[in-house]
Amino acid sequence: MPARILDGTKLAADIRAEVAAEVAALAAAGTRPGLAVVLAGHDPASEIYVRGKVKACEEVGIYSEKLTPPDSITTDELLRQVEDLNRRDEIDGILVQLPLPPQIDSKKVLLAVDPAKDVDGFHPVNVGFLSTQRPGLVPCTPAGVMEILKRSDIAVAGQEAVVVGRSDIVGKPVAMLLLNANATVTVCHSKTHDLAEVCRRADILVAAIGRAGMITRDFVKPGATVIDVGMNKVTDPVEFARLFAGNAKREESFRTKGSTLVGDVHPEVAEIAGAITPVPGGVGPLTIAMLMFNTVKAARMRRASNVPELSRA
Ligand code: NAP
Repeated sequence: MPARILDGTKLAADIRAEVAAEVAALAAAGTRPGLAVVLAGHDPASEIYVRGKVKACEEVGIYSEKLTPPDSITTDELLRQVEDLNRRDEIDGILVQLPLPPQIDSKKVLLAVDPAKDVDGFHPVNVGFLSTQRPGLVPCTPAGVMEILKRSDIAVAGQEAVVVGRSDIVGKPVAMLLLNANATVTVCHSKTHDLAEVCRRADILVAAIGRAGMITRDFVKPGATVIDVGMNKVTDPVEFARLFAGNAKREESFRTKGSTLVGDVHPEVAEIAGAITPVPGGVGPLTIAMLMFNTVKAARMRRASNVPELSRA
């Protein structure tokens, strides 16, 4: 039986509607949440991501501000901009878009963001809060993965979860969130032996690798839930054929555009998984929705004394 498709676009729209309602309630109480996005330089992919984030803010009623320092900015100058945003009361969230220009000490800049405004959840203080189960700001993509599971009624407690990938922004925080939700968690990486065998143990398999269609049916226990975080652009016709031969719709779009977006999970996995996130339209849309959620959460936590208690913890 083909897998249940976990529709990230729909789930993200639900979250954004909930966030919009909270923003309206906060605004009625005299507080409008605000997000500042810092985009240094002209990385084309970053420009697209930032545009999407600013637009999402407008749609849910969050005040947004885009700072665009030039490519040539120094670490010290960028630190001063971040410190200025830290001081401004109307800014609840600060997002420094990565990658930064090569001369910038990225770690130093991320460390300078006030943890209370760190809506990306990358600051070591928030990483520590996550691992010790204290309230804090959780990285957006991992938080989105958990929302997909929760809102799709997929049990996590007591389940075997395998996460492939151990990056600071996806693999590790996803693993920590699954552990906090009482799954039995295994984290795999490029040095893992017998990866397919380890993955086949999973009731919940999360792929955050960055390799197009690497997780084939041999990696998946029939009936497992498969969450595909990967976003890979495929332009090679041979690679395309390995993944999508016989898929008329994709073939047509590949012919027209010369590329296609594919996850880390081979499409054939949908034939044996119990539930699966598509790419596109799976985890991706949740990332921006959770950024909006985090901005409102930051506003609520920072201004706890002068805003009314709202619906979500
Ligand atoms: P990353 O920093 O490059 O980390 C990749 C991880 O995969 C590393 O831990 C690496 O192991 C592991 N890996 C690489 N090749 C492997 C192999 N052959 N076998 C087993 N493990 C292997 O990537 P990332 O930032 O976590 O992103 C992962 C994917 O998610 C990318 O496709 C990215 O575009 C996508 N992504 C999507 C969203 C979204 O919103 N949907 C957000 C963020 C990222 P080592 O640690 O041993 O090197």
